[in-house]
Amino acid sequence: MGPREVLFLLTSRSFFVYINKKETGFFYFKMAKLNENNLKLAIQKEGRLTDETLSFLQKSGIEFESYKQRLFSVGRNFPLEILFVRDDDIPGYVSSGVADLGILGLNVVYEEKPDVQILLNMGYGFCYLTVGVPKESKFETVYDLKNKTIATSYPKATQEFFDKMEVPIKLIKINGSVELAPTLGVAQAIADLTSTGSTMALNDLRPLTKIYDSQAVLIGNNDSLRTKERKKLIDRLIMRFKGVLAAKNYKYIMMNAPEKILPKLKETVPGLKSPTVAPLAEKGWISVQTVIREDVFWETIEKLKELGASGILVLPIEKIIL
Ligand code: ATP
Ligand code: ZN
Repeated sequence: MGPREVLFLLTSRSFFVYINKKETGFFYFKMAKLNENNLKLAIQKEGRLTDETLSFLQKSGIEFESYKQRLFSVGRNFPLEILFVRDDDIPGYVSSGVADLGILGLNVVYEEKPDVQILLNMGYGFCYLTVGVPKESKFETVYDLKNKTIATSYPKATQEFFDKMEVPIKLIKINGSVELAPTLGVAQAIADLTSTGSTMALNDLRPLTKIYDSQAVLIGNNDSLRTKERKKLIDRLIMRFKGVLAAKNYKYIMMNAPEKILPKLKETVPGLKSPTVAPLAEKGWISVQTVIREDVFWETIEKLKELGASGILVLPIEKIIL
């Protein structure tokens, strides 16, 4: 059952009710009782963010039943209930307090401007909103789009961008397949989300300028963040999320090195605090264990080899609790 087939959905902190139509034409009704004290986290039921969000939750050590065919799922080892909803509904659920937390694209937050707090960048779902024009067109800068029609699913952000540039434009809001608008003659340019630009290229469009960068973010309800007990639970969850994020950015390394290079080694691999050093059986040699940052991985390894380190062993890290 896809989220769109739900005809009617009513939720509050303690109930989840929906009315649906079967293939037979009959309507049916389901109701689930939610535990008021549990944290409620709204995530995308079906879409680009779903798989990565579920795997992120699993990496955070939260176990829950498979979500297929479900509208919500209860964490087995954390007082958390996961609500599976359309991503566009997440701002409303979180700002109204039906859910304490939500994970969704920053692009949706920018567009809807819900009254919520952005708590954490999740490190996946990277994409950007970009202005695209037909490859063969003469448009070179945003200023060339003066008084032109731009098709987009993100009218607010697009309008704000052109207002800031002081370029008057006309907007047409399209919900899907925005990239077809120029071919169909509906608009001269588009503003659309992309992660690689390939959909644009496939449709004979070229990027003109970027409006903003986006990724999945964790948002929180203002009241929940002000309520002591709830805030405590939210902080526990965020600590777990940060552990997963930190682990992704670091690798654990072990190596052998001549003792005399230790000061230089420490400069190259400062580690989280400082490296662990142990003597080796061979005199004048030590074993060093530490963590290094993923983004400077190869530079660091090359420097270590130059300094005289050998037998370098690199291991993935599951979690880092700072
Ligand atoms: P629906 O509302 O019907 O579920 P949607 O288009 O809002 O569809 P998805 O296409 O699943 O939902 O996108 C969800 C989120 O994934 C986007 O809001 C955005 O944050 C992120 N995303 C990552 N890469 C891309 C991309 N290349 N194009 C569009 N969105 C992307
Ligand atoms: Zn959506």
